[in-house]
Amino acid sequence: MYDLLIQDVDILQIDGSAVVILPQHTIAIAAGKITAIAPAISPTLARETIAAPGRLAIPGLINAHAHAAMGLFRGIVEDVPIEEWFNNHVWPMELNLTPDDVYWGALLGLTEMIEAGVTAVADHYFAMDAVARAVSDVGLRAQLAWTVFSNPDEAAQLDQAAAFVEQWHGAADGRISAWFGPHSPYTCTPGFLAHVASRAQQLGVGIHIHLSETAEQVRQSRAAHGKTPVGVAHAAGIFRVPTLAAHLAHPADDDYALLAAHGVAVAVCPKTEMKLGIGVAPVADLLEHGITVALGSDGAASNNGYDMVEATRLIALLEKHRRQDARVLPIGQALALATREGARAIGLAGLTGELRVGQAADVVLLSQAGAHMQPVHNPAAALLYSSCTADVETVIVAGRMLLHDRHLLTIDKAEVLRQVGQRIERITQLRSDALAIYPQS
Ligand SMILES: [Zn+2]
Repeated sequence: MYDLLIQDVDILQIDGSAVVILPQHTIAIAAGKITAIAPAISPTLARETIAAPGRLAIPGLINAHAHAAMGLFRGIVEDVPIEEWFNNHVWPMELNLTPDDVYWGALLGLTEMIEAGVTAVADHYFAMDAVARAVSDVGLRAQLAWTVFSNPDEAAQLDQAAAFVEQWHGAADGRISAWFGPHSPYTCTPGFLAHVASRAQQLGVGIHIHLSETAEQVRQSRAAHGKTPVGVAHAAGIFRVPTLAAHLAHPADDDYALLAAHGVAVAVCPKTEMKLGIGVAPVADLLEHGITVALGSDGAASNNGYDMVEATRLIALLEKHRRQDARVLPIGQALALATREGARAIGLAGLTGELRVGQAADVVLLSQAGAHMQPVHNPAAALLYSSCTADVETVIVAGRMLLHDRHLLTIDKAEVLRQVGQRIERITQLRSDALAIYPQS
């Protein structure tokens, strides 16, 4: 007996970099997994069915670098350079956040992600126990890292992050994994990074870190340490555990071999990187060196949203533009970055990210009926270059429907918006006691 059948649906699979569409097939789900994909399966074999003619089933999208709660600051600081953005605006507001604010901010971000077809997110922030509760409550899948910086309290912060890993790694029926989150080599000393690396090794988990976001960071790192940020992270032992490097917009020539040799995955966040004017990773070059590349949104304070199709579209366009070659990042390879490769980057390789028997039932159904999608000569092209988040009709994670016919089934959105609204005036006060965290150039 199956728990759920999705019938008459067009299924998008990616074989290597090639798109395969299985037209009008049925997906069978039992115990949270995809247990059969076939042209037809009798509805009498299932407890529940969804008739999905004309819909496209895609693997749930994976957001490999986010700060979900930062939607609280969406649109509040625009058109300023990263240093000013961080030191003069975002950080002086973030100091106001209580764990409850982070919980409701995260719920706002997770609501938006579900409505946009995201089924798994790698989130990096403070008060991560609040984010973990939010993820657990809404039914998403997540890899969570508690951000730590070097400061006089760093040992206590590392203990807190380790306690978080011990409490939450494998929680929510295995939907949550917990990694360490040293913010970056520009906010953490090499000695502190080494401590974090050995704690991660002891606990058998990975590390999610920001690396080489700007050319100036690389220049300052060479001046201070004689190494790029990648070299500093490597020397501190970070790469002895699975590592997810956010941004990596400026890899140096010798970084490529280090990243490839240690299986470091890169989460590129094209919208934030373009908007802050910091540069975008040369994704095609990273891929040619055998480096795992995934896509992220970053926080909605810089991205203004959590739309992973938009991120995929931007990176495909950017790379074609950068190389002046329309053949770069073809559709299947681009879509794989936000699905299969995203799963690999956040430690879920082979478990989610593909619509195949044996994988978790993390499935998104999209309408293809909109005028902006029709006629559908190529469903993968329609998805990548024409769709919008409003086309997402149904979102399933581990076999459980979180969104159906665009109704949220695990979230009271009106309450989320009410809770967020009543916090805005207090949390957007600029704190005068904020120290500059982002290094001055
Ligand atoms: Zn970030």
